[in-house]
Amino acid sequence: MIDMIKIELTEDLIAPCGMNCGICKFHNREKNTCPGCKELHKKIPRTRFKCTVRECKILKDKKWKYCSDKCNNYPCRRLKSIDKRYQTKYHMSMIENLKYIKEKGIDDFLEKEKKKWTCPQCGGIVTCHGGMCLSCGFEKFKN
Ligand SMILES: [Zn+2]
Repeated sequence: MIDMIKIELTEDLIAPCGMNCGICKFHNREKNTCPGCKELHKKIPRTRFKCTVRECKILKDKKWKYCSDKCNNYPCRRLKSIDKRYQTKYHMSMIENLKYIKEKGIDDFLEKEKKKWTCPQCGGIVTCHGGMCLSCGFEKFKN
């Protein structure tokens, strides 16, 4: 458990793949905090899994804001596979996120995300990894 921190969502925390880094446990931990994937040149903790989307050469070269911007391969096999994993295990979908951003805009998306990932019990952050509030342990997705 960590001290109560409220969810602070900005565009800078939305990765090119559609991941909301603000709800990632690696971004919200105290030590070796991951800055998120938005800035592709920034180093991220070694302990974090190597992401093939983040390592995508086209994405790095073209400096696209989101994979869905102009990529001819969107959604590529790599993105689809990570998306499937997140849908199955982590209560979210990158591809759905990108679709939402495209249709309704980033501000609307950030508002929606804030509502989805704020703990109803204490107002802290629920992380997608584990689906639990980092402050009080509330399990949002428990049936
Ligand atoms: Zn809580």
